[in-house]
Amino acid sequence: MKKIITRFAPSPTGYIHIGNVRSAIYPYLAAKQSDGKFILRIEDTDQARFVEGATELIEDTLKWLGLEWDEGPEKDGGNGPYFQSERKAIYQEWAKKLIEKGRAYADPTDSDTIQTYRDADNAQKIPYLYRNHRPKETDLSPEEILINWSEGTPIRFKADPKPRKWHDEVMGDLHAGPEVQDDIILIKKDGLPTYNFAHIVDDFLMDINMVARGVEYLSSTPNYLALYEAFGIEQPLLVSLPHILAPQGNKKLGKRDGAKSVTEYRKDGVLPEAMLNYLACLGWNDGSEQEIYTKDELIKKFSLDRIQNSGARYDEVKLLWMNGQWIRKLVTEQGIDKFYPRTDGFWPDSAKNFDDKYKKQVLGIIYDRLKTLSDLREMTDYFFADPKFDIEQLLKNKFVKKLSEQEMTGLLQLAIEKLQNLPDWNAETLKTALNDLLAETSQKPAVLFSLIRISVSFAPFSPALDLTLNVLGKEVSLARLNKVKEALLLDQQ
Ligand code: GLU
Repeated sequence: MKKIITRFAPSPTGYIHIGNVRSAIYPYLAAKQSDGKFILRIEDTDQARFVEGATELIEDTLKWLGLEWDEGPEKDGGNGPYFQSERKAIYQEWAKKLIEKGRAYADPTDSDTIQTYRDADNAQKIPYLYRNHRPKETDLSPEEILINWSEGTPIRFKADPKPRKWHDEVMGDLHAGPEVQDDIILIKKDGLPTYNFAHIVDDFLMDINMVARGVEYLSSTPNYLALYEAFGIEQPLLVSLPHILAPQGNKKLGKRDGAKSVTEYRKDGVLPEAMLNYLACLGWNDGSEQEIYTKDELIKKFSLDRIQNSGARYDEVKLLWMNGQWIRKLVTEQGIDKFYPRTDGFWPDSAKNFDDKYKKQVLGIIYDRLKTLSDLREMTDYFFADPKFDIEQLLKNKFVKKLSEQEMTGLLQLAIEKLQNLPDWNAETLKTALNDLLAETSQKPAVLFSLIRISVSFAPFSPALDLTLNVLGKEVSLARLNKVKEALLLDQQ
């Protein structure tokens, strides 16, 4: 298998959306599978969009997901610098190579004049192409252009428009006519390169042989092919990743479609394993029904030719479902002790003064109900603090409301007596006691157990009653049952 040398080349704009991360996952998997190389390159030449701290966020997110780069910031592999802003001289040198070949020119035309070209073409209803307005500077010899050029004057490519054909690993065989090839800007007024130019140079110098990126770059590909050709560079494998679609409609997933940034999901307690699994399978499958994949399995099974060529729909419900599956999987495989440290920072404030042993017990009975780790905050509060006493909630419960208040009081009294007299308080004895109570009172489990469950938790859900009572302990359980019984008695007076 050919070793894939590829890269993730994000722009540090501060917000890491789902689509950005997917563009990192596929190249990572392809590189690892072929024992190749995954390079991180920061594309920070658009200074207007630069956001402080964004690079750190990208690096931190990749590390969190387990997508460690083989080369990049802090990991020099001899191809650095890995920040494009530090490679300015390289791009200028490469732009000059094109000037020497007669394939680029310095263009002093100001933006107002360019706008008049655009307007004129629009007025005539012909597509605007800058090459149709090429200034006289293009007629100068390469030597003259080079002598006269200084930073502050943009350098443009001199297009050689012609029909072009190429293969995209996802989109198949493609072609484009000359009408989409233009004199694109290579070096901007500020001396920095455009994305269009910089990535060609960097990919070549970094020995990149596979470029995976969003499908939005497809329309510019004919210009990129022209640049490869002008430099005499072999074209890398091109992989266009279809858009991730919003949950509804036929549009690209945007910030407003309910999808949070990766950072927010992380804060909510989505596990990196689940995020990786979900995003890898968003637009790719191995042809089987399998849904849960570890990173190693993904590396083994990934193939470019099974990336869907149409947009995949984002589904947060599925992501959270998968996260729940991952919580279960990891707890089952690793045990509570090993998983527990991951819950740090996700417990309710009320848990502050409780020790790890107790919190592990709570986790042990609740983990299989969690969708995210932050569910712990709402789902476990009553294990650490008395719940908000809300007798109405009890009376309105669809099972409990079948009982009269007198029956409720009587049942609670029986439960209290039974539990009080237990010689041992553990899940086993509690299970037996609760079953005995059912038999003795001839109540339906849903009715009797809802009454007891709500009385000790006032929560919409809780783990199995015997387990809940066991973790709450005898003193707390009985105190809460008594409190409800007293309140009901008062009500009846
Ligand atoms: N810097 C580009 C972006 O963030 C990367 C495109 C590419 O991977 O070449 O969209």
